[in-house]
Amino acid sequence: MGEESYGSFRVVSTLLFCLLPILAAAQQGSAALDVPDKFNLDMRTAARLRPELLAQSTAPGRYATGRRVFEKLAEQAHASRNRKPAWELRIVNEVLLNAFSSPDGTIYVGRGLADLAGTRAGLWAAILSHEIAHVVRRDWARRYLYEESLRYGGGSVVLGDPGLSPVAWTDSQKASEDLARFCRQLELEADLEGLMLMARTGYHPDFVPALHHLLHAQGAGKIAPSVFAMHPCWEERDRELDRAYIVASIEFERRWPEWYASPGGDPPILVFADEPRVKKTRTKEWEIRLPMRCQNLVGAVEVVLQTYSAAAPRSITEQGTSRGAASNDEVRQLTGCTSPKTTITFTVTDDSQKAMSAEVFVLDGQGAVLSRAAIPKLRP
Ligand SMILES: [Zn+2]
Repeated sequence: MGEESYGSFRVVSTLLFCLLPILAAAQQGSAALDVPDKFNLDMRTAARLRPELLAQSTAPGRYATGRRVFEKLAEQAHASRNRKPAWELRIVNEVLLNAFSSPDGTIYVGRGLADLAGTRAGLWAAILSHEIAHVVRRDWARRYLYEESLRYGGGSVVLGDPGLSPVAWTDSQKASEDLARFCRQLELEADLEGLMLMARTGYHPDFVPALHHLLHAQGAGKIAPSVFAMHPCWEERDRELDRAYIVASIEFERRWPEWYASPGGDPPILVFADEPRVKKTRTKEWEIRLPMRCQNLVGAVEVVLQTYSAAAPRSITEQGTSRGAASNDEVRQLTGCTSPKTTITFTVTDDSQKAMSAEVFVLDGQGAVLSRAAIPKLRP
């Protein structure tokens, strides 16, 4: 996967998104400066690219949940009074774990991402609300104007940012950092607006971190998460958005007192797994501790430790249980995750002299992945 998986779609997507790596920390303040009324390059570009994008995508078809959620969200989206996007949902004919928006109101969702969301309305809402926010906010135009201001200097008149010195625009390194910071700010603001759109429409904001965790967990699989290349990393977004979640959750609860009856239903189980801590307890033995916090959990989650090594026999035992070694490769523990600081402990022994890789997955009652944490290499 990787670059080639984008095919020609990749070329087009650079026009719709911030693709630069994130170089600088997000700044306070807003990137939501007004796009001049007469500016229409975004719409003209969208019209020019449309035939190519349509050729590479199809109508939602069997993704009926996605179409239904999209219609509800679009109805609630507040575009400016002199601009009515022609909302349309398209599924990209590639196994992309990503979504894109075109300034004209067409949202393109990669087939990989569409399959991941499946029939879960809340996950679709998390994907689509963010893209709809990009369209409503005219982020393509904002980014374009900001880039122009960096290129020609003095452009602060068009989209001023008091935090940036015009002198610095002659410095290309500084300019690319400024742009990266600006793009990142656009992303975070689209997240924020998307969360509020979800709350208004009846999808609990918790579906956003649920989607982020699911995408992060996909990183363990064979599908390269191309989405990492263009958005701030999910964990970081979770942190930055903490306050926004609270605001959006309050709004959701005010509008939808009966959660189960909201369009997205009850909020999903969330598992926030911290970085696992590994301690070598003796020769050929490691203790792995996974601190975690669960939200919206009724019942239990299953924590699965998987180890990989080319080496021969080893045994894995669970501390505090008598189940012993479940298999050579994985061991499981159930937890109600009742405390805000639940810690799961595994003890791993390995007789080989080779380094081992390990990963922890947290699964719900149906075996669906809720969270994943990579573990530093276990070295003999
Ligand atoms: Zn975005």
